[in-house]
Amino acid sequence: MKEIILIKNGELALKGLNRSNFEDALIKNMKRRLKDLGEITIRKAQSTIYVEPKSDDFDFEEALDRVSRIFGIAGFSRACVCEKDIDDILTKSVEYLRESMANIKTFKVEAKRADKNFPLTSPEICRELGGKLLSAYPHLKVDVHNPDRVVNVEIRDYGAYVRAEQLHGAGGLPVGTAGVASILISGGIDSPVAAWTMAKRGLRLNAIHFASPPYTSARAEMKVKTLLSKVARYSGSINLAIVPFTEIQDEIAKHCPEDYFTLIMRRMMMRISERLARKEGSLALITGESLGQVASQTLPALVTTDSVCNMPVLRPLIGMDKEEIVRISRNIDTFETSILPYEDCCTVFTPKHPKTRPTLELCEQAEADLAIEELIEKAISETSYTYID
Ligand code: ATP
Ligand code: MG
Repeated sequence: MKEIILIKNGELALKGLNRSNFEDALIKNMKRRLKDLGEITIRKAQSTIYVEPKSDDFDFEEALDRVSRIFGIAGFSRACVCEKDIDDILTKSVEYLRESMANIKTFKVEAKRADKNFPLTSPEICRELGGKLLSAYPHLKVDVHNPDRVVNVEIRDYGAYVRAEQLHGAGGLPVGTAGVASILISGGIDSPVAAWTMAKRGLRLNAIHFASPPYTSARAEMKVKTLLSKVARYSGSINLAIVPFTEIQDEIAKHCPEDYFTLIMRRMMMRISERLARKEGSLALITGESLGQVASQTLPALVTTDSVCNMPVLRPLIGMDKEEIVRISRNIDTFETSILPYEDCCTVFTPKHPKTRPTLELCEQAEADLAIEELIEKAISETSYTYID
């Protein structure tokens, strides 16, 4: 029996004249994400997108799994393709719905007839199919108000489709439609969640990671790559810049007061990130900061890090509790990787008494003996790139 995937795009429907652009972007993303699974055609009609396998070896289950992680999709379902003929619809439905009808008690049929040439009206289709299912599955009853399962029949231009279950999509907007931004990614819990949250709003991601060998190990770098590959299952491919940060940390340790270490380090990260972001075509930075979570994330601290950066810094987790962040991180499967113990450049370099109420003036004084420009230039020239897919 021939099956297809039906996609309902959510918020896209609200985008007026832009809608077509958003749909085209979604379809392009879908093609890219499904292309290695076998030949398909993707078609759109009346706020539905149809994914139709063209080869017998198409990996349908894997396709559904991937579709569940593509932003811009509100809901999706697998559906059986029928002739536009009521007998064919009835016969195939009984067979196709066998499993979905097995563990329920009540159902109802909803029909939509977009092709008005189809000889039966929608209520007639419901009656016919409802009756057929009742006689095929005598344990079932019809409940039009609160059914366990809704069976949908759609008569469209290209064919008739029967489906039993609408699944939730990942929501959001198609990646790429909101532009490009760079996520500052550490190996922690927060930054992968921040990356995912912004990709969900349609941003394509670049990533920047500061590595401090030998304080940080190759395993810490692998961890970051693993985290990004998990985010990339939603966001699509990510270009990762790895910035050598050891020398800068050593210089900070040598020339700056200890209670400012973290802040100055973060200011250096922001300066370098902005330059890299501009070079790579990103319009904003993204961080995993959450207000008050640690000393470098109090409002006065954020003022001092923002002040060295002339591009917007998006902080999608700013108002979230750790618990909420952890919940998302479990949902997107980054949590278990994030809690692996490998050290981060921040953890090996934490002052005993970090400043929680720094001022801009004091920060500038604290870094007065630092050869900031030189250090930035050198770090950028030694930055290496990895493509995460
Ligand atoms: P996370 O859980 O993401 O590590 P955190 O709560 O540990 O965050 P910090 O270590 O203070 O917070 O870092 C705040 C933000 O700074 C991170 O969310 C991330 O965006 C960025 N950041 C921290 N360390 C690095 C790093 N080594 N490379 C790139 N960005 C980093
Ligand atoms: Mg961290």
